[in-house]
Amino acid sequence: MTNLEVFNSGANLTFTIACLLVLMFSSIYSSKGNKYGKGILYLFIGMMLDFIASWFGSNINELASVGVPVEILVFIELAILLISMVFLALAASQFLINNVPDVIIIAAILAIGISAILYFVMVNPDGDMVNNMRSIFPIAGLVYISASFWSQSSQSKSGSIMAAVSTTLVSFLLILRLFGWVLTVSNAWYIAPALYVALSMSVLMIKTDSFVIRLRESEDKIQSYNKRIEEIIKLSPFPILISRLSDDKIVLANNNAVKLFEMRYDEIDHYKLKDFFAEPDARHALTERLEKETEVQDFEVLVTTPNNRTPFWLLASANIIDYNYDIAIYTAFQDITTRKTRENLLKNQAIRDPLTSLFNRRYFEEEVSKRISLARVDGSSYSVMMVDADHFKRVNDTYGHKTGDKVLIELANTCEKALRDDDIVARYGGEEFVIFLSKTDAEKAKSVAERLRETVASLAVNADDGSEVKFTISIGISSSEVSDNIDNLIKTADEALYRAKENGRNRSEIFTVKDMENFKVKEESEEENESHLHPIFSKENEEEISLLDGAENQPVINETKTTE
Ligand code: GH3
Ligand code: MG
Ligand code: MG
Repeated sequence: MTNLEVFNSGANLTFTIACLLVLMFSSIYSSKGNKYGKGILYLFIGMMLDFIASWFGSNINELASVGVPVEILVFIELAILLISMVFLALAASQFLINNVPDVIIIAAILAIGISAILYFVMVNPDGDMVNNMRSIFPIAGLVYISASFWSQSSQSKSGSIMAAVSTTLVSFLLILRLFGWVLTVSNAWYIAPALYVALSMSVLMIKTDSFVIRLRESEDKIQSYNKRIEEIIKLSPFPILISRLSDDKIVLANNNAVKLFEMRYDEIDHYKLKDFFAEPDARHALTERLEKETEVQDFEVLVTTPNNRTPFWLLASANIIDYNYDIAIYTAFQDITTRKTRENLLKNQAIRDPLTSLFNRRYFEEEVSKRISLARVDGSSYSVMMVDADHFKRVNDTYGHKTGDKVLIELANTCEKALRDDDIVARYGGEEFVIFLSKTDAEKAKSVAERLRETVASLAVNADDGSEVKFTISIGISSSEVSDNIDNLIKTADEALYRAKENGRNRSEIFTVKDMENFKVKEESEEENESHLHPIFSKENEEEISLLDGAENQPVINETKTTE
């Protein structure tokens, strides 16, 4: 390309420089994020040095006229050409081995080239050899580079082929010219810009090619990653489900999950994750937590199967993962039914009475306090009833303690059946029960109490010896008209119960606001004499109660009562 007519015409020069600029921009653009990036930049530098050397060679006469010795100028021109060749060789090695080139080879090329230039320009000037070197350096550079592009044509297709074809063509033309066969200086000025344009297009295409290759590689990677996930999941001893986040559909279930959820192997994709959640709220809660934390551990969930088996408890841990180009939820499960059952049992043990399974006194007082607060808000009335079995000691004495227990259980069941779901029945202690009636005033409570009393009176429990045990109850009632304090309600209901006992048993009595005056006076006098107990909580009873119910059955409030 040296000494082409490019530099004889201003228009040719401008066009050529424009094409070189195009090559520059496309080289810089294509070098980014491309594994051939370095090679592309070296290619551009090599082409540019070649252009500069050509300009230098075309202007030697003018430069010499300034007074610089011609030998020096020719030396500089050839040296730049040599360096251009080295850059093209560097570029070629980047394409070929995609690695730093062998420094020794580069040094050898430079040493031989510089020696030849020094010898033919300075020591033993030879015009023919200098002319030959002007062609040989660019030819050698282009041959390196075209060979490397050909070698890459199978990997990065279109771009490398185009670069290889254009550089081969130009080196071929230059070889022809070297032997003086075809090209004459005057008709070949366009070779340089044409090569620049062809190379610009090539590097842009190489960038696209390498992008496509990277995409294919990452697709392969994702596929093998998914395969690995699937293998790991299949081997897991835990049931695992992967469901798509977008539509909740199950996309993968391991054997353990298929068995656990009673799915059909061929229909795994028919199921959705939410199908297995017994409570839809829990499904929402899981998504909400995943949105916030992307990883959820120890999520207790009640699950069911498509065949509607009894729901059972699982411990789930869930993660958001990429799966098959989708965002998915990875959920692993662990069966915690046994643990959950034990937990429920313990919870019940804490709040229930073991004999009758009714709530215990502590739970009753806590729960009723909450209900009273609620009732304060809507202004509704409520009542408390104390229920005590009459002459229960006799039942025990006559039929034995076991039958006594049976009677208490029957009484507890009867109380529960007689009341609404919203009411609370608890075993207060011994043969004494306490009931909270919501949205019920004293009058209504009285009729409930009468109904309950009559039902109990008509009951007959079979004793061990086959005989029928009949028994009655007495009931004391207090209500929100009297007090809104749980302790006072119980105390006053107990006072009414005491009156029912006094008035002959098997009856119910209401504690009214009017009774308050007398009651206060009585309570004050009782406080002065705390050592006595109410007859229905005699010392003897207390001992037996504590045997069955533990410390919580100690009749605390009765410490303030006196025996009549
Ligand atoms: P009153 O009509 O005055 O209530 O007479 P009562 O005999 O029912 O009253 P008292 O308080 O003297 O006796 C209560 C009895 O309840 C004493 C105790 O043996 C019996 N009792 C308390 N708890 C249990 C229990 O869990 N099982 C059995 N079988 N008896 C119990
Ligand atoms: Mg009793
Ligand atoms: Mg009693």
